[in-house]
Amino acid sequence: MTQNHDFITNVIQALNHPFYVIDADTYVVRMANTAAYTGELPEGITCYALTHHQSAPCDRFGEICPVAEIKRGKQPLLVEHLHYNAEGHCEALEVHAFPIFDADGQVIGIIEYTLDITERKEAERLKDEFIAMVSHELRTPLHHIKGYATTLLQTDVVWDAATQWDFLSSINREADRLSDLIEKILDLSRLEAGLAPMEREWYQIADLVDGALMGRRGLLATRAIEVDLGPDLPALFVDGREIELVLSNLIENAAKYSAEDTPIKIGALREADQVILSVADQGIGIPKEHQGRIFERFYRVPRAGPQLPGTGLGLAICRRIVEAHGGRIWVASKPGSGSCFYASLPVDVPGP
Ligand code: ADP
Repeated sequence: MTQNHDFITNVIQALNHPFYVIDADTYVVRMANTAAYTGELPEGITCYALTHHQSAPCDRFGEICPVAEIKRGKQPLLVEHLHYNAEGHCEALEVHAFPIFDADGQVIGIIEYTLDITERKEAERLKDEFIAMVSHELRTPLHHIKGYATTLLQTDVVWDAATQWDFLSSINREADRLSDLIEKILDLSRLEAGLAPMEREWYQIADLVDGALMGRRGLLATRAIEVDLGPDLPALFVDGREIELVLSNLIENAAKYSAEDTPIKIGALREADQVILSVADQGIGIPKEHQGRIFERFYRVPRAGPQLPGTGLGLAICRRIVEAHGGRIWVASKPGSGSCFYASLPVDVPGP
């Protein structure tokens, strides 16, 4: 009997999920393993005091109380539950609870073990938020396209050639926006899901800059571009396609948010064990209070006039890529004077 008891106690202690045996009447914890509580379990402590630091069972605070539910239903139970740990942080838990019966079929105790699902919940929340944002953003250009096309197809009006041209140009512009949006959404979700593993190779920085400029040559045809690459730049062991995408997004923004007759400056210099890439413009700049938020998905600085075309995803993509390479991205900017975006990349990445 004792051997059996010791064996079961050892098994329970070996579990790396919190495990409790709770008295059904008093809510007192009779047993808890070390994943649930380290040290000597305080005599007479209740489950709500131990796990919630509360003075009464959860159902008094509007939550489902597994002990009360099991006493009522006499069935095993699985509930999602919020707990506040000793530091006051909220944890999402999956509580698995089972009844212990006496000889008369009365519930005298409850066995509970909990799984921490905080990360899963956060991932689900981010996914839902992303899907909601994406659907909203896709709908706007689609509505415009549908609106212009429906107007053109009206049979009771004859549109003159200039108006038709106007409407068709609008459809064309919105279709471009839609396709840019879809491409960026795919880039971002590919990066977030970690679907495409990084393909690191050795690249000269000058080649990465050239690649990004080539990709944007249509946009930059009439712009003055100044490239200033510092001396002694090492080769970088990076995913070249992705770093070109970062530079290309930053260059696209620099061109978009500055006047045609101002130059765009691209730089790179070595600082200790990092290379710092920079893309600077003399454009509209970014107010201080927005500088921390522009790297969030879909965040665009609100403007007094009409918004320039864009998706609010370019910088989120840049941040993902740079951070995946162990670097950092930030901006220095002054409204009315211009912005300079920086991306640092570590140099001492071990070779293949
Ligand atoms: P978007 O497609 O809107 O340009 P981004 O994620 O690339 O999306 O940029 C987010 C926001 O940051 C932009 O909407 C803009 O408000 C601001 N921004 C980005 N780059 C610049 C820049 N070079 N100058 C001024 N504002 C910028």
